[in-house]
Amino acid sequence: MNKRNGDLSIPKRNLNSLYARINRRWWNEVLPEIPVRWSTQMHAAAGKYWHSSAGWEIVLSVPYHQEFPDEIEDTLKHEMIHFALHLRGGLRRGLSHGEEFRAEAERVGASVHCKSYAGLHRPYRYEWECPNCTRRSRSRIRRIWACRPCCTEHNDGYYSPRFKLRLVRGRASAG
Ligand SMILES: [Zn+2]
Ligand SMILES: [Zn+2]
Repeated sequence: MNKRNGDLSIPKRNLNSLYARINRRWWNEVLPEIPVRWSTQMHAAAGKYWHSSAGWEIVLSVPYHQEFPDEIEDTLKHEMIHFALHLRGGLRRGLSHGEEFRAEAERVGASVHCKSYAGLHRPYRYEWECPNCTRRSRSRIRRIWACRPCCTEHNDGYYSPRFKLRLVRGRASAG
């Protein structure tokens, strides 16, 4: 049974075992263990690699992934690339989304851009459809979105106007 929309299912996904699996598959297990945790407080971004009072850690947003549960692995891979590049060559390199980051993202199949998502508290007002695969999705804010599965499958994870979502509900700023 598909229960992935259950609000409580997200924080229960074990990020440490997912981390270990990705580490094994894409980094030959060379990445050291690092704290990886969920945050219910993080609303502005999908994930972050940062230095907390407890040291360097990876944090994934619960609200973001409740909305986009299929992106958990993608977000974690993205943050792991920051960690890997930081280990490899220092902080500036680690925090950049430059050429080296993009090459790694392509290699492991992760999105390049930090996904930020303002307005997670607002109600869903917009419904979108992918012109390519016809998947439907909803958003709280209106902006140019592309279909992530299609970008991943057909365009190495990069944005393509071919997969720009069509607004099917919520036109005219819904007054
Ligand atoms: Zn990033
Ligand atoms: Zn699509």
